[in-house]
Amino acid sequence: MQDNTQPTSMSAKYSCQECKTFLEVLQVVLDNEANEEQIEFVNEHIDNCGYCFECYEVDKTLKQTISQKIEKINTPKDLTLLIQSKISTYLAQE
Ligand SMILES: [Zn+2]
Repeated sequence: MQDNTQPTSMSAKYSCQECKTFLEVLQVVLDNEANEEQIEFVNEHIDNCGYCFECYEVDKTLKQTISQKIEKINTPKDLTLLIQSKISTYLAQE
């Protein structure tokens, strides 16, 4: 897949050591496993680095979408079980 949205100047920035560290720490932060120091590092870095800010936004949205989807899947599943148990109770009474 070709990525045309990323100018070459951004790629150069990506290779910087702090950005590499950022992407690693970001995963920890998004998993809610980061300590204060790591959260501070992420917040400071996205203030100064547009590329990493975009990565942060994309990753954050992605994680939120996934967890929302999981919630949506769980609800009908519980409902299905409830309906099934109601039906079997009803059928047992017949
Ligand atoms: Zn960066």
